[in-house]
Amino acid sequence: MLNFSELKAAARIEDLARLFGGVPDRRGMCRCVLHDDKTPSMKIDAEKQLFYCFGCGAGGDIITLAQLHEGLSAPEAARFIDCALGLGLDKKIPDAERRDTMLRAKKRHFREMLRRDEEAEKERKLYSELCGEMHRLREAMNAEPPNSKKAELVEKLNKVEYLINLIEIKACK
Ligand SMILES: [Zn+2]
Repeated sequence: MLNFSELKAAARIEDLARLFGGVPDRRGMCRCVLHDDKTPSMKIDAEKQLFYCFGCGAGGDIITLAQLHEGLSAPEAARFIDCALGLGLDKKIPDAERRDTMLRAKKRHFREMLRRDEEAEKERKLYSELCGEMHRLREAMNAEPPNSKKAELVEKLNKVEYLINLIEIKACK
């Protein structure tokens, strides 16, 4: 069986997070890979080699991360990390299992990245639609509409500006 401290010395938690589709920024923040996270709630501490999610409260070391993500026991998680990150520490693990585990993990990684790309694309589209709508509403306001119409326009404009703001705040994080 794998020695946990040997594994933890050889493996990087940020590599595992990345494999699971998390993309840590400079502060180590990424969208949680353990729950459906819309904004980056997960902190990957590369220095301490620990993670913590401010959204779902999950936290621990690299073995915990693999355990929770894969639904494995600690020894199984260690084995998974050894194979998926290509560390090759446990010489008793057959090559076929190594290859298979890594391949499956990479496939899931690319599927997850693709899903996130598609989500981001949808958001970009929504953003540009909202900006177009804001422009139209502002022009309608400039055309000095009757008071009855004006209240409705102001309300719509507020709503659109609010949504644009939300997307912009998220993009700045
Ligand atoms: Zn979480």
